[in-house]
Amino acid sequence: MAAVSFPVPAAMSGGGGGGGAGGGGGGGGGGGGGGGPAANAKSPHKGNQAKPPNEKIDWRSYLGVFKYSKRAIHLVWTTNRKLTVGLALGSLLAGVLPAGVAYISKLLMDSIIKAGKTRELGDRHTAMQWVLVELGLVIALALVSRTLGIFRSLLRQQLGQRINVEILDKALTLELTQFEDSEIYDKLTRARREASSRPLSLVSQTFELAQSMITLVGLGGLLAAFSPIALGVLIVAAIPPFVAELKFSGDAFRLSRWRTPETREQMYVETVLANDNYAKEVKLFGLGHRFLQRYRAIFDKLYAGDRKITINRGLWALALGTIGQAAFYGMYLWIALEAIATPANGGITIGAMTMYVLVFKQSQSALSSALGDIGGMYEDNLYLSNLYEFLDTPTIDATGDATEGTNPGDGVRFEGVSFVYPGSHDIALEKVDLHIPPGSKLAIVGDNGSGKTTLIKLLTRLYEPTSGRITFEGRDLREWSKPALHQRIGVIFQDFVRYQLTVGENIGAGDDRAYEDRVRWDDAADRGLAKPIIDTLPDRYDTQLGKWFRSGRELSGGQWQKVALARSFMRRDADILVLDEPTSAIDAEAEVKIFERFRELTDDKIAIVISHRFSTVRMADQIIVLDRGKIIERGSHDELVKLGGRYATLFNLQAQGYR
Ligand code: ADP
Repeated sequence: MAAVSFPVPAAMSGGGGGGGAGGGGGGGGGGGGGGGPAANAKSPHKGNQAKPPNEKIDWRSYLGVFKYSKRAIHLVWTTNRKLTVGLALGSLLAGVLPAGVAYISKLLMDSIIKAGKTRELGDRHTAMQWVLVELGLVIALALVSRTLGIFRSLLRQQLGQRINVEILDKALTLELTQFEDSEIYDKLTRARREASSRPLSLVSQTFELAQSMITLVGLGGLLAAFSPIALGVLIVAAIPPFVAELKFSGDAFRLSRWRTPETREQMYVETVLANDNYAKEVKLFGLGHRFLQRYRAIFDKLYAGDRKITINRGLWALALGTIGQAAFYGMYLWIALEAIATPANGGITIGAMTMYVLVFKQSQSALSSALGDIGGMYEDNLYLSNLYEFLDTPTIDATGDATEGTNPGDGVRFEGVSFVYPGSHDIALEKVDLHIPPGSKLAIVGDNGSGKTTLIKLLTRLYEPTSGRITFEGRDLREWSKPALHQRIGVIFQDFVRYQLTVGENIGAGDDRAYEDRVRWDDAADRGLAKPIIDTLPDRYDTQLGKWFRSGRELSGGQWQKVALARSFMRRDADILVLDEPTSAIDAEAEVKIFERFRELTDDKIAIVISHRFSTVRMADQIIVLDRGKIIERGSHDELVKLGGRYATLFNLQAQGYR
């Protein structure tokens, strides 16, 4: 707040958008978990060829952007009322004090000169008193500033946490489709990058603005007593730097927004280079240097834009700052001439001269800091628009609230179900008709990419059919309440999650209601054949898995799969259990054993298994063969072998391999 020359708001002057290293803001966590799905699923490039938008200054849009101030103030207020009130009161005090100091300095100077002339003891005392008063005020000012600093730090931490929680909370409500949408992913990245520090900055700036205004009114009053023209000079000299500032904040913002995809790509490369999941391949294929080079190249590209804005901004600030200096020395000359004229000739005292010079200087600071605050608020508002744009992303309405079906004995039906992934042109499932009665076991067979997983994603309502419908117990899935539906289905996907948690939690995650139930962990581990593994672990169920945290144990692929299987066995009440190839790293014999247990457990339940092993598949009551999204064969193992079609060919191929 005590800027001396026309300032460039600190928040921006450094990095021209702070987007540069991307990873810095949201990177740490964002890289690990967040750099993932969309970055993998789709190319992050979007409109790379386009130039950064370089719109003309539109004053209406400049004002419109301040609409987020109200929300930011509400956010800060509801985060911590006491600190907010403290911040407001402190700013008020810090606003009043400078004019007081200036006025006291005049009284001091005049009293010194008077004491020098009269040489009387009383006048000396008065002069000394003014020194003490000024000292007191200066100390008070320093105290208030420090306290304000503390308040701001505390509030910043609380607010940062709160906004991060809001962002993550919002992320929870997004549909899988939205997660895989690179535009929404860009929004999430932008929101996480800076928005957590912006609301406080906005509110601080609002208070600082108020503080500067109060200071200005006081100082302006003193200055107007000298000459209203001086007040005019003050204001006119401050306008050009202000306009430049607004323009540059807007440019920096547009630049950083336009290049979110690159920033995200950089975060992704960072993840690949600095994450244990990737380390094996990166090392063996010697990809490190190539990726590091790519990382550098992205930086160079981003830096070029940053550099231009930073330099331009600095040069303009320098040039326009000179106007302020010139105005100051012009005023100095004028005030000095008035002082030379002496009071007798209508001039001013030396004390008044000191005061006016000080007042003009301080007014310049206060005004430029006020205008800087407005510029900063503008900028914060722009960045907050990122946050709110993400928070306001419409959640796809979870239609349906039914908790039970109309025909409980009906099982699952696919009726003419077709599906195309959003943004894709290829049909992933085409006119699938399928009935899975309660208690029946279904195996799905097909080449990679034939639509097996997609079928499961539709059944679990992670996606909705493009056409046709799926019913469970006679009711369209769209009418079901999602939580009710999800409670009835247990799924382990082939790319199941390896939680960097304890073994117990890795298993317990399968049923939120029994997350910490040790008896259930044990039971599920037994069914998933994970018990022998757990018995070899040092702290059994309390052993930390993965290598991310201290004393974590890494498991082999097959061991992880058994833990994941145990997780699926946690779903005791589910009516449908799905194993999407989670047993590929487990030997065939164990897989048969697992499937047998799965059958036992799921006697009255629907079990669906996707497997490439016919030893498992043949145990199913019903087998469907998928080919490019269509069911081309269906029946029991014996029927399909007799049919002599695709299934029979694949079966014979595998059987030969075993002979
Ligand atoms: P399978 O499980 O049989 O190997 P999938 O059901 O995963 O095959 O995939 C079926 C088709 O859908 C494939 O062509 C695949 O490229 C495409 N696909 C899978 N997931 C997505 C997705 N998230 N977005 C777009 N297309 C996808």
